[in-house]
Amino acid sequence: MPEAAPLLYIENLHARIEDKQILNGVNLTVNLGEVHALMGPNGSGKSTLSNVLMGHPKYIVTAGRVLLEGEDLLEMSADERARKGVFLAFQAPMSIPGVPVVSFLRTAMKSVRGVDVPIREFRKELRAQMSALQMNDQFISRYVNEGFSGGEKKRFEILQMAMLQPRLIVMDEIDSGLDIDAIRVVSEGVNRLVGPERGVLAITHYQRLLDYITPDHVHVLVGGRIVRSGGKELAHELEAEGYDRIIKETQPEEVPA
Ligand code: ADP
Ligand code: MG
Repeated sequence: MPEAAPLLYIENLHARIEDKQILNGVNLTVNLGEVHALMGPNGSGKSTLSNVLMGHPKYIVTAGRVLLEGEDLLEMSADERARKGVFLAFQAPMSIPGVPVVSFLRTAMKSVRGVDVPIREFRKELRAQMSALQMNDQFISRYVNEGFSGGEKKRFEILQMAMLQPRLIVMDEIDSGLDIDAIRVVSEGVNRLVGPERGVLAITHYQRLLDYITPDHVHVLVGGRIVRSGGKELAHELEAEGYDRIIKETQPEEVPA
């Protein structure tokens, strides 16, 4: 593959969970430097797509392909995906009882970078990133996600991204359950990471997040297919009108003769 291969290239992706076909031919390309928003009504398959990108074993790809900088992502183990710079932030991150934040981050960095980061350098970097995210120092000795508030969980995800410096960031409803202040902190954290070294796929049901993270491209997923793509104005249009019209337009039996 030439070095100009897109960061993420999804072609005709079909996927099912158990007997239920959910993705029905998703096509999407994310290049370095771009921020894409994927919107859509509940049940349209947004989380299914993020789970497929993560390699969740319950989601079965039945057709199509996904390339990460020209390489077959679907063939990669979860570890390989992380090492190649894929970072997925989820609606409900898991807790890891007994593992303090600081150890988790250091291990993750070692695993992703393949080398140990000297402890002083690591601590310095960690403190700088935490202060940018308005997190206090005690946070690092708490157990991962255990007893974290909604806002703390999301800040911790952003902290991980900032430390790991991924190539591709996929966020699934990272704004759900956050108040405006938390959304602002999280969005600023994401915005600091946007740049020519990275691409972002922000999945969100609501337009609200996109007041803070400005997408270059907006896509609407309905029935496991992208039915509309456009610029950021598409998100505003959806906010004003809701998804009903777009759903109607895309149901074949509803199309006027
Ligand atoms: P979204 O994130 O857009 O709300 P999802 O990808 O979570 O949509 O879900 C798409 C469809 O797949 C929904 O109809 C949902 O009910 C179904 N689904 C999701 N997870 C499962 C599961 N574990 N078993 C069966 N059906 C599921
Ligand atoms: Mg979802």
